[in-house]
Amino acid sequence: MKDQQTPPRPGVDDETFAGLLAQVERFVSERLVPLERQVDENDEVPGEIVEEMRELGLFGLSIPQEYGGIGLSVGQEAEIAKAFGWTSPAFRSVFGSTIGIGSQGIVMDGTPEQKQEFLPRMATGELIGSFCLTEPEAGSDAASLRTTALREGDRYLLNGTKRFITNAPRAGVFTVMARSEMGEPGARGISAFIVDADWPGISLGKPDRKMGQKGALTSDVVFDNVEVPAERIIGGHPGRGFVTAMKVLDRGRLHIAALCTGTARRLISEALAYSAGRKQFGRPIGEFQLIQAMLADSEAECYAAECMVADAAWRYEAGEDITQEASCCKMYASEMVGRVADRAVQIFGGAGYMAEYGIERFYRDVRLFRLYEGTTQIQQLIIAREMRKRQSG
Ligand SMILES: Cc1cc2nc3c(=O)[nH]c(=O)nc-3n(C[C@H](O)[C@H](O)[C@H](O)COP(=O)(O)OP(=O)(O)OC[C@H]3O[C@@H](n4cnc5c(N)ncnc54)[C@H](O)[C@@H]3O)c2cc1C
Repeated sequence: MKDQQTPPRPGVDDETFAGLLAQVERFVSERLVPLERQVDENDEVPGEIVEEMRELGLFGLSIPQEYGGIGLSVGQEAEIAKAFGWTSPAFRSVFGSTIGIGSQGIVMDGTPEQKQEFLPRMATGELIGSFCLTEPEAGSDAASLRTTALREGDRYLLNGTKRFITNAPRAGVFTVMARSEMGEPGARGISAFIVDADWPGISLGKPDRKMGQKGALTSDVVFDNVEVPAERIIGGHPGRGFVTAMKVLDRGRLHIAALCTGTARRLISEALAYSAGRKQFGRPIGEFQLIQAMLADSEAECYAAECMVADAAWRYEAGEDITQEASCCKMYASEMVGRVADRAVQIFGGAGYMAEYGIERFYRDVRLFRLYEGTTQIQQLIIAREMRKRQSG
C-alpha cells in the first residue's frame, strides 16, 4: 500500500463529500431497500426513484463541475458506489452507464464542443448515456467488432447490431464503437461515435430476460444505415475509439469493485444478524464455529477487497497507470462477493433459498459482476499481460 497520508486529492472537499455520502446512505436505506423486492418482481425501477436520483445529482457524480456535475475523485466515486452496493444493483445501474463510459469517454477525450453539448445534459440526468461495444460475435474479443461506419463526405453510415446494452431502453444517447478504418484490423480501426438514440435507422430489441439484476434494463441496439455527422467522433480523430474505451474501463472496473464490497457488506451484515437470531440444537447458530468460519472468511475477504480499491483509487489520483490494479480489484472483488453471497445462502439454510428473505436475490444479482466489464478470465489475461510488461520495463 502507498502512504495514504499524502494523496493528491482532486474531487470535492471533504465536508461536501461527507454531506453527499450521508445523503446517499439515507436515500439507499430509506427509499431503495424497501423497494428491492418490488423491483425484482416487476423488473422495473419506479419512475419517481429515477427522478429522485436526478435531484440528488447522481447522474453527474463523475462529470466535472464546470459542466454541471459534482466532479468526484475516483476514490470518492468508489465510496458512493460502495454505498449503492448495500441495495439491489439495479438501482445503481440506472445512472451507472451515464457516469461511466456514457460520459467519461467525452470527459477524457471529447472535443470542447462535444463536452459543452453533452456533459451538462448528462449531469442533470436529462440525457441518459449508454455504451454500445458488445456484439453477437464480439464479446471478450471486443476489438473484433463488425459494426461498420462508412465515410460518405462529412458523415458516416452506421450498420450493425449491439448486444446486451445496459440502459438502451432509457438512453437518450449512445456511445457506439464501430469500425471506421477498413484498412486497419483490430483495435486501431475502431472509432467511438456519439449517436442520438432517436435518429432514423436505430431500433431496439425486446428487453432481455435475465437471471438477476431485475430492473436493470438491457437489449440489442440495431443500427441500419444510421447517418452520423463526422463531428460526432469522440475527440474528432477516427481510429482512437478503442483507446478511449480502455481508459474509461480502468475507472469503471474500480467502480464495479467498490460496488461489490458494498454488497458483500450488506450480505455479511444480514448473515451475522440471522446467525444471532436463528437457534438450532438449543443455541444461536452463530455460536457454532463452522458458521463463524464462514462469517470470518467473508469478513477478511471483503476487507481485503476494500483495501485494494482504496489503494488503486489512490494510485489513480496520483496519476499512476492502474490498468493492472483495476483488473486485480475487479477480478478479486467480483469473485469475493460471489463467495460471500454463497456463504450467506448457506448460513440462512433453507431460508436462504426462499425469495422472501432476499438472500437468493443477491446471490443471483452478484453473478453478473464476474461477467460484464470484462469476465474474470479477461481480467486474468490483462493482469498477466501488465505483469510481463512491467517486468520487461
Ligand atoms: C447484464 C449485462 C449487461 C451488459 N451491459 C453491456 C453494455 O452496456 N455495453 C456493452 O457493450 N456490453 C455489455 N455487456 C456485455 C458484456 O460486457 C459481455 O457479455 C462480456 O464482455 C463477455 O462477453 P460474451 O458474453 O460475448 O462472452 P464470451 O466472450 O463469448 O465468453 C464466453 C466465455 O469464454 C471466456 N473467454 C473468452 N475469451 C477467452 C480467452 N481469451 N481466454 C480464456 N477465456 C476466454 C470468457 O471469460 C467466458 O467465460 C453486458 C452483459 C450483460 C450480461
